[in-house]
Amino acid sequence: MTPLPFGSTIGILGGGQLGQMTALAAAPLGYRTHIFSPHDDEPAHLVTPFHTKGSFEDEAALAAFADAVDVVTLEWENVPLKALEFLEKRVPVFPGPNVLRIAQDRVLEKTFARDHNIGTTDFAVVHSAKELDAALKNFTRPCLLKSTRMGYDGHGQVFIKEDMTAQQAWDSMKAPVGILEAFVSFSSEVSVIVARSANGETATFPVVENRHKNQILDTTTAPAEISDDIAAEALALATKLTSDLQVVGLLAIEMFVLKEPNAKGQRVLMNEVAPRPHNSGHWTIDACPCSQYEQLVRAVTNRPLGPVAPHSRAVMQNLLGDDVLKADALMKNPSAHVHLYGKTGIREGRKMGHVTFLRGAW
Ligand code: AMP
Repeated sequence: MTPLPFGSTIGILGGGQLGQMTALAAAPLGYRTHIFSPHDDEPAHLVTPFHTKGSFEDEAALAAFADAVDVVTLEWENVPLKALEFLEKRVPVFPGPNVLRIAQDRVLEKTFARDHNIGTTDFAVVHSAKELDAALKNFTRPCLLKSTRMGYDGHGQVFIKEDMTAQQAWDSMKAPVGILEAFVSFSSEVSVIVARSANGETATFPVVENRHKNQILDTTTAPAEISDDIAAEALALATKLTSDLQVVGLLAIEMFVLKEPNAKGQRVLMNEVAPRPHNSGHWTIDACPCSQYEQLVRAVTNRPLGPVAPHSRAVMQNLLGDDVLKADALMKNPSAHVHLYGKTGIREGRKMGHVTFLRGAW
């Protein structure tokens, strides 16, 4: 693939803050961005005038979008595969349906990892309360039941304690298929973001540590406070997964760091992957010469990838709901970089913005 000429248009599926920050990163490289989404008034619409409004099932809208763009990427991994396959016949789509098919389904994701010698939690697929009841006999409680699809920020997850029946757990999951997972006693949660271009060039950001509140990301600390050995294991896992999946674009890999190595000697397990920019990579905008968003733009246009060595250590804090009201106070802090997404309407837990605190030289 030859590089996409400067001035070409990158189509982005989804109009949220990840699309907004991708569009902002594309502009200085002279690329236009065009959003496809079912809604108006989303964060990405504030930074580019080009928008096709339509549902992901609307083939006429998808065809018009394909005609208007030179390459397609995405900021939401649950775009229906049919829409991606439809677009792919008309315009290059990065990452493609082959990657999305796996990333959209927790069972396929974990099976792929296991088949490629990548550590994951023990799991079982269940299709009914009866199957769950049988599977629970092989798991120690507490354990977790998750919907296999459309899960994010803890949605569709049930924590199964001693006193919960299989039927109760099944009913609260509210999904047709579930994955039962062993509960991992981790010392920390970390993630790595890898950029990969069509020619196979990769660039891997350092390992960062993530803390969650109510299963939603609260802070990301860069670098993660882990030993060099564990960092090397996390980086190796992430780069292997990205190349085995043949991702073009970005892959964010969320991992658990175990307190003790497991029976296979693994100290890092994959939890889940997202083939798009990731909340745990926001800090790269302010602390790295080339952010995750710019890497995505470079990868999908087949330009050289940028340097990944950060210039600063950083802590990213999400501004959820009312936290956004602290923006003025944060702006008085000289080491704080405040990013607000322009969302109207504060709701509890809604990602309204984030702030990155720079913490001195890397
Ligand atoms: P997920 O949607 O799978 O990323 O889960 C959201 C959060 O729930 C994770 O970031 C962990 O903090 C927690 N979690 C998910 N799965 C497990 C597990 N198998 N063991 C322990 N904690 C988990």
